[in-house]
Amino acid sequence: MALTHLLGYPRIGERRELKFALESFWQGGSDAAALQQVGARLRHAAWLRQQQAGLGLLSAGDFAFYDPMLDHALMFGAIPPRFTAERCDRLATAFALARGTPGQPALEMTKWFDTNYHYLKPELHAGQDFHLDAHAYLAQVADAQALGSPVKPVLIGPLSFLWLAKSTDGADRLALWPALTACYAELLRSLADAGVEWVQIDEPILALDLDPAWRDAFAPAYAALAGTRPKLLLATYFDDVTHHLDTITALPVQGLHVDAVRAPWQLAAAADRLGAQRVLSVGIVDGRNIWRTDLRRALATLQPLHERFGERLWLAPSCSLAHVPLSLRHETRLDPQIKRWLAFADEKLGELSTLQRALDEGEDAVREALAESDAALASRRHSRLVTHPYVAKRLQQLTPAMERRTSAYPVRAERQRAALQLPLLPTTTIGSFPQTPEIRADRAAWRRGELGAYDYLQRMREEIRHAIQQQESLGLDVLVHGEAERSDMVDYFAEHLFGFALTENGWVQSYGSRCVKPPVIYGDVHRPDAITVDTARYAQSLTDKPVKGMLTGPVTMLQWSFVRDDQPRELTARQLALAIRDEVADLEKAGIGVIQIDEPAFREGLPLKRRDWPPYLHWAVQAFKLAACCVADETQVHTHMCYSEFNDILPAIAAMDADVITIETSRSNMELLDGFGSFAYPNEIGPGVYDIHSPRVPSQQEMERLLERACEVVDPRRLWVNPDCGLKTRRWPETNAALSHMVQAAKTLRERL
Ligand code: GLN
Ligand code: ZN
Repeated sequence: MALTHLLGYPRIGERRELKFALESFWQGGSDAAALQQVGARLRHAAWLRQQQAGLGLLSAGDFAFYDPMLDHALMFGAIPPRFTAERCDRLATAFALARGTPGQPALEMTKWFDTNYHYLKPELHAGQDFHLDAHAYLAQVADAQALGSPVKPVLIGPLSFLWLAKSTDGADRLALWPALTACYAELLRSLADAGVEWVQIDEPILALDLDPAWRDAFAPAYAALAGTRPKLLLATYFDDVTHHLDTITALPVQGLHVDAVRAPWQLAAAADRLGAQRVLSVGIVDGRNIWRTDLRRALATLQPLHERFGERLWLAPSCSLAHVPLSLRHETRLDPQIKRWLAFADEKLGELSTLQRALDEGEDAVREALAESDAALASRRHSRLVTHPYVAKRLQQLTPAMERRTSAYPVRAERQRAALQLPLLPTTTIGSFPQTPEIRADRAAWRRGELGAYDYLQRMREEIRHAIQQQESLGLDVLVHGEAERSDMVDYFAEHLFGFALTENGWVQSYGSRCVKPPVIYGDVHRPDAITVDTARYAQSLTDKPVKGMLTGPVTMLQWSFVRDDQPRELTARQLALAIRDEVADLEKAGIGVIQIDEPAFREGLPLKRRDWPPYLHWAVQAFKLAACCVADETQVHTHMCYSEFNDILPAIAAMDADVITIETSRSNMELLDGFGSFAYPNEIGPGVYDIHSPRVPSQQEMERLLERACEVVDPRRLWVNPDCGLKTRRWPETNAALSHMVQAAKTLRERL
């Protein structure tokens, strides 16, 4: 019997129950008992689904109210000393660390590998003392066991935990492994006592290029866990681990999970190296994307392994299913043809059980399921929804000249100076202005059909007029329309482009109670009609100052969507680029002289291994340039990036050749800009002078100081003044106050230069 299991199940709930329960608890609308009850119900529902799908093991311990890394930190007693005052009950402590308190900022949040999930970085220090408090964890395992199936607890492994944490005093995190693994050993013993046979221990860092010191710590750290009785399934995902197979096969673990979707080629090496005792868990169903599995192809991969491994072959999704939406059940508006091509978490469980039965009982036992899989795949392959001859033809006609501006930056800069007549240190914003409750209510009413299209348009125009008036009276130099009509920078364009489908309920947890609903790119992307031109033209008609057109870039559209798996990402990026290019050209034709193409997700598209960076950067830069380089020298192209470390990819950012880049820097006190200075970034740059993530209004002096620092690093003639990011999450009063200080700071500095 091939055994089926999963690495983790979506936590947020079929109807985002966790989100609503958390938010109601935080707002004082319900108590901790109610929240605990929702948690228990969600876990129970997840186990029942696994049981109904016939999985051989139920996964437990993968649930968290806010974040699993945070729960591990609490379970091992790694609560930062700065939070000692907040140590009360478990839930309150967790939320204090996750959300901050009046006296203490929250733990830092960062992306989980190359996903869009953000985890909380545990804070560690030299001589960190760990102690095990596994009460809640063990209780969850016991709850799962009460359902009568074998239960496999899930843990983040000690080395990944340390690697993903941060040290607050510069101490070496790796040096903490002996103390930490002692806690893991104690926990494993308790699990064994509770009757657990298998524990899944995730070490996703094995997919990275690890420093030798980290790699070499695996042997002693896992030796410290040996002999604790439960068998260990070492889980890796998101990429190839063949470069670490020597390390892995020397560990005292009884099984290995590998990602056979992202890196199918590693299966052969892993199978050869595992020996005659160990389990091979094959991540055969895509845990990162929403496409139905090609069951025939999967079987062709699995059959020879099944012959060799027999019961030691396990089947699973490639990674935790927390990265995909929970179920297709609630999608009522998706085109039925497209819906047939998809599999969300619950449908993926069904695929696992079909694969398992096909292996164990023969393909005849699942004839219907295989036939349906074949038919669905064939319909996708041949669908006229997917391929569009017009797009194919345009792609064939691409020329290198389309990815180049007519003149080099210095020439363009002269012409733009003449055309735009901007002062030194021009001031601008990143695009969005506050999304007020009124705007949201109007959009909701329009979507429900209660507000007509014409009335909705008028309402958005009122908002644009208001935003333009505010910016004029603040004295900003390059204005924006404020993005009132956009609920989300990717969704808005996805709605207007061909090749995209939007789901009703395809939510994926982003962090804590926050979820995103990535659109699905299923077909060749193209733009049937202009999207933003009317809005930009309207905004420009209200002012003599230049209005900046506002677009989302091809890499960000790609990165924040579920992407086709039937063609390379880079090809989809090029299609997106062409669609955006059409929009750029139309904006210019409509008299818009400044156009911003946002690429906040540019850096997060970087592959996990450095060896894969150059090809990615190459096509990502190309896609941006294809989108941008259709305008005259006089037209100024901006781009914006945030949440990023840029220093290691500066050559690529320079190669994008935007006339102006605005970046987030205020939280790092402009340190980020140093890289741009020493690299001698050639074009104009707007380092953010204030953090938009907080309602705090910074003083004029504060921003002046930051600008002075910036002037030391970058020639003031190439410097812009702007906030860190868009202002959609802020309210108008603080926005006006902060921007007025910002404009004053720029004016004061101008006089001094
Ligand atoms: N133009 C977008 C805005 O201002 C940019 C958002 C982002 O960088 N994430 O909201
Ligand atoms: Zn931003």
